[in-house]
Amino acid sequence: MAEVLVYVDHVDGAVRKPTLELLTLARRVGEPVAVALGNGAADTAATLAEHGAVKVLTADAPEFADYLVVPKVDALQAAYDAVSPAAVLLPSSAEAKEIAARLAVRIKSGIITDAIDLEAGDEGPVATQSAFAASYTTKSRITQGTPVITVKPNSAAVEAAPAAGTVEALSVSFSEQATGTKVVSRTPRESTGRPELTEAAIVVSGGRGVNGAENFAIIEALADSLGAAVGASRAAVDAGWYPHSNQVGQTGKSVSPQLYIASGISGAIQHRAGMQTSKTIVAINKDAEAPIFDLVDYGVVGDLFEVVPALTEEVKSR
Ligand code: FAD
Repeated sequence: MAEVLVYVDHVDGAVRKPTLELLTLARRVGEPVAVALGNGAADTAATLAEHGAVKVLTADAPEFADYLVVPKVDALQAAYDAVSPAAVLLPSSAEAKEIAARLAVRIKSGIITDAIDLEAGDEGPVATQSAFAASYTTKSRITQGTPVITVKPNSAAVEAAPAAGTVEALSVSFSEQATGTKVVSRTPRESTGRPELTEAAIVVSGGRGVNGAENFAIIEALADSLGAAVGASRAAVDAGWYPHSNQVGQTGKSVSPQLYIASGISGAIQHRAGMQTSKTIVAINKDAEAPIFDLVDYGVVGDLFEVVPALTEEVKSR
């Protein structure tokens, strides 16, 4: 069976969920060979093996330390040269998409970004993407070179599939470009302890109906009871009630969680563009005619100031 390279997103050896989802999809296309780079790379091996990686190629070097992209492209290309894979899969993070694009240029391959599903095809992997604010899905495959495909978080279930997970050191020679950039400063964002918006399995969002920054506390309380991330509509962000980094929609982030709860959000097309592919959508809105109810799986017509705290209490009591 052909090998498929899977680029591992990890933090100091802790593998992030989108990579485990990628392994599920990779197994449909071939035998996953994982590429883990940077601090703690070797520590990823056990988790990756539990989820189907037949081999884990690891490399650590000071060049990987500063969130620079080119050293990682150099390493992924070294893995590509060593393995000659049938496909290269990466998560759809901003960083991994840049790595994917640069690799595709170097190896003269086509690239598909933001896939939401992947299956084996007679002429190579077939990727599903969603288009036009998720009104359409398209299926496509790469016709030139080795397919390089990035996949959105929450596109597949994480499945345990024990495999050998043999660890091999990857030898990387860095290109001139790799040392041509230097990080001069870094300002870490204060952690909320909540999952990353684009990776979260559950997102609870608030809109103009939340009616003030201070009232977002009830949205956060529901989110925390569910272990969810917090999102916001542009109206809430423009009003200064919640940071832009939490905006969901056309000019914000795209999310595709298992569960999306929209509170006090009308469901404008630009908001839908960022959340329409969520697996289960719940809306709480006091206007029964709000357009969001056209796309929900479950709708509650009611005042969010009553419904959201009641829901939080119910979740906490279980
Ligand atoms: P509203 O449309 O004002 O809806 C508020 C809702 O809350 C109403 O349905 C109301 O019935 C309900 N409500 C009020 N009080 C309560 C209560 N007590 N209990 C329950 N329900 C209540 N928007 C985005 O969200 N994301 C984007 O990325 C984005 N990008 C855009 C890009 C462009 C180019 C443009 C033109 C617009 C964009 N917008 C975006 C804006 C979008 O068109 C809408 O204006 C916005 O989504 C509306 O936000 P909202 O639903 O929170 O507010």
